[in-house]
Amino acid sequence: MAKKRLVSGMRTTGSLHLGHLEGTLKNWVALQDTYDCFFFAAVWHAFTDRLKIDNLPSLIREMIVDWLSVGIDPEKAVIFRQSAMHEHAELATILANCTPLGWLERCPTFKDAVRDDEARSSVTLGKLMYPVLMTADIAVYNAAAVPVGKDQLPHLELSREIIRRFNSAFGDILTEPEAVLSQVPLLIGIDKRKMSKSYNNGIDLRESPEGLKNKIQQMITDPQRVRRNDPGDPEVCTVYAYHKIYTPDRLAEIAEGCRTAGLGCRDCKLMLFERLNAMLEPIRSRRAEIEARHGYIEEVLEAGEKRAHLVASEVMQQIRQVMGFLL
Ligand code: ATP
Ligand code: MG
Repeated sequence: MAKKRLVSGMRTTGSLHLGHLEGTLKNWVALQDTYDCFFFAAVWHAFTDRLKIDNLPSLIREMIVDWLSVGIDPEKAVIFRQSAMHEHAELATILANCTPLGWLERCPTFKDAVRDDEARSSVTLGKLMYPVLMTADIAVYNAAAVPVGKDQLPHLELSREIIRRFNSAFGDILTEPEAVLSQVPLLIGIDKRKMSKSYNNGIDLRESPEGLKNKIQQMITDPQRVRRNDPGDPEVCTVYAYHKIYTPDRLAEIAEGCRTAGLGCRDCKLMLFERLNAMLEPIRSRRAEIEARHGYIEEVLEAGEKRAHLVASEVMQQIRQVMGFLL
């Protein structure tokens, strides 16, 4: 049986961190075997909240290198840039006319963005249109599946409504995508808030061993535990939150050590460093191999964009036909 097609993208807004690995990339790697995966660098989406992006070519390249280094496989998945696919833009222009303004204005991300007048004056049409472009990204491949976390469900529902509206006018042309719900674990940053580029609290996938050590040094532990011999409360400690994910086999021992002051914060951090470093090490060596292959990323994108065009051009041709663009 043919695999169902699945589409997902990631914005090119900065270097990838452990949150991206845990929240998105591990899931993508697993999905590659079950679905016909189309993964794209969401270059246009990256501009919806900024006018200009410095060093975009290297941002795009580094993101693709990171994907491959964690196990996204160009033999299994189609890897491409949204910005190389004019079909997404063509379909977005068409779908914009199937989308009542109210649907977009009610979108939680848009409502958040236009809280006050000052915000309103800087929010762009691109931001408002985000869900329309997202719908085009998916529909242009007739994707049956989209991986989403619970918080993304309203966006996908909006996409499904836009597609239904198009189909009600032109016949069953576009596929209504289903959500592939993933348990997205929210990774916290070194300051205990959600790990995020904008908070500058992340551990990058490209972190060197020294950089990693430094980030772990900065992690906030139990503020009540001032001296080495003070007992601590692991449940308030950032390092312990990480051990829960990365050291499940020694968790009881670590919690006990913290509560009894048998284990000091320094040693506890060192244990975490060793775990995280061991996880990053194979990613680093795969990255080094990929970066040593001159022209490889260009090849991957060229092949991916060719395959993507094959599908998208066929879908677009059908749309042009039913809408009456062809003489
Ligand atoms: P920004 O600060 O610009 O919003 P970010 O670091 O939050 O950047 P996004 O580009 O918003 O990164 O995230 C892309 C996707 O990566 C998210 O939709 C989410 O699935 C995943 N992701 C990002 N940060 C985390 C995190 N801390 N924990 C789990 N998943 C995350
Ligand atoms: Mg974010």
